[in-house]
Amino acid sequence: MSHFSCCEHCGAILESTLHAVRDCSSTQSVWKAVLPMKSWRCFFQLSP
Ligand SMILES: [Zn+2]
Repeated sequence: MSHFSCCEHCGAILESTLHAVRDCSSTQSVWKAVLPMKSWRCFFQLSP
């Protein structure tokens, strides 16, 4: 793996696809809009 790509939303280096679906700051704002606040902590600390 010599290829690194950057997130097109926030410019962070994509270490895993998890960034795009959960960890990106722009994606997180979407999750926080649809998830109840009490589940945020659990959700964002989940690891595959
Ligand atoms: Zn991002």
